[in-house]
Amino acid sequence: MHRAPLTSHHADNSTCPPEHKHTTSGKPLTQGCPGRAYAQARCSCGNWQMKDAGKGYVNESRRRHLASHPKPTPPEPRLLGDLLRLDTP
Ligand SMILES: [Zn+2]
Ligand SMILES: [Zn+2]
Repeated sequence: MHRAPLTSHHADNSTCPPEHKHTTSGKPLTQGCPGRAYAQARCSCGNWQMKDAGKGYVNESRRRHLASHPKPTPPEPRLLGDLLRLDTP
């Protein structure tokens, strides 16, 4: 099961941790915080990452990517039966 956590970043690429509070309009309330410049998400599969100023957009793309990973479900008994039948002459 892969994960693609969403993180916020400052303009200098450092992480803007959740402790950094912002107003609803995005103005930083924490001293020393220059404000969020972009949001970034990186999938644990290593094949996908993205960053964009729009946090909602990154979040949506992140979900879409995660949904593209095949779910680790065990093969259905019916399919298994078909495979066994193929093996027997
Ligand atoms: Zn910050
Ligand atoms: Zn992935």
